[in-house]
Amino acid sequence: SFKPAARIAEIGVSEILQIGASAAAMRKQGHDVIVLGAGEPDFDTPDAVKEAASRAARRGETKYTALDGSPAMKEAVREKFRRDNGLDFSVDEISVAAGAKQVIFNAFMATLDPGDEVIVPTPYWTSYADIIRIAGAVPVLVACDAANGFRLTADQLERAITPATRWLMLNSPSNPTGTAYTEADYRPLLDVLLAHRQVWLLADDIYEHIVYDDFRFVTPVGLEPALRDRILTVNGVSKAYAMTGWRIGYGAGPAALVKAMAVVQSQSTSNPSSISQAAAIEALTGPQDYLAERREDFRMRRDLVVDALNAIDGLACPRPQGAFYTFASCAGMLGRLTADGRRIGSDRDFCAYLLNAAKVAVVPGSVFGASPFFRASYASSRAELDEALSRIARACNELQ
Ligand code: PLP
Repeated sequence: SFKPAARIAEIGVSEILQIGASAAAMRKQGHDVIVLGAGEPDFDTPDAVKEAASRAARRGETKYTALDGSPAMKEAVREKFRRDNGLDFSVDEISVAAGAKQVIFNAFMATLDPGDEVIVPTPYWTSYADIIRIAGAVPVLVACDAANGFRLTADQLERAITPATRWLMLNSPSNPTGTAYTEADYRPLLDVLLAHRQVWLLADDIYEHIVYDDFRFVTPVGLEPALRDRILTVNGVSKAYAMTGWRIGYGAGPAALVKAMAVVQSQSTSNPSSISQAAAIEALTGPQDYLAERREDFRMRRDLVVDALNAIDGLACPRPQGAFYTFASCAGMLGRLTADGRRIGSDRDFCAYLLNAAKVAVVPGSVFGASPFFRASYASSRAELDEALSRIARACNELQ
């Protein structure tokens, strides 16, 4: 019979995908289910980007490219870091892969040995922990306080570091909370890292361009040049440019690390798609004006969702600085009874109730390592959000 390798034995299929599957099954039975689970913008890839891909295909850019990104692709990434972050990287400090996820996978596979530890603040994007486990290492989950916007504190970091710590993982703006770190938030953490030379920092900046109000995005390597030889900055085109399906992500960090990451990639996928690289070059170097328009659209939707959730007795939703998720507390719902006499005992119960009673799918905080909360994505149309929110309000009001 089939026996999975030990390295994947404790890794399940993503619960988010399972929730999507339940919703799809209910739809098939004729239920009108609204899924607020999406981890991707509902916008389309910009036309100019599609055109660039199409031109590349017709030009015959259909062959293998350089392993971790074509020279033109790496130049585009260099330009992005100069323009957006004021950072100058050389070509051998840049790595391009099939999504930010593959960049993170390459980095952990290239650096982690059994027994090594990676500090992951929670709530967290679950792939971090699973990639760390696949690499044979140990994710050290550190629970961050909701009252501190789920930000890691210097004290918590100091206490989590051991001689086995290899990496700290930070993600700003965050999936699932939408929390973002200011320079003042980062500073004490970077000071701790300066004192622990064995610890590297992986900064996942994938939501960089989706920030609101007057929040000014900053990235750690820009704040502390002394840490430049142990920071990997990860980013990609998926979220900013609505290009999730094209699969292009990139990283910038020390050349020796980038070289080791290329070894991993050379024996798994080889180069990222040549056509997708052509598309990503256009995204990164073409006009950037639609980013602001899309940001404003997301901001209006964020406010719509946050205000509607806070108007419901029993829910409390902070207003996130970025990304396209809300992460609300449902603590006030615990102990309440459904119309058929079932008790809401957890965020999981609450989400199951919303799916059954309101036909709205959201993701329990337990999936991201924090209870009792739930994540709702607002990367859906206004009409869909309006309908989902009024259904949620109705279902919540029916709880006793
Ligand atoms: N990092 C975070 C925090 C994400 O939420 C996601 C996607 O959901 C990724 C990375 C992966 O993005 P990509 O599509 O570039 O692999």
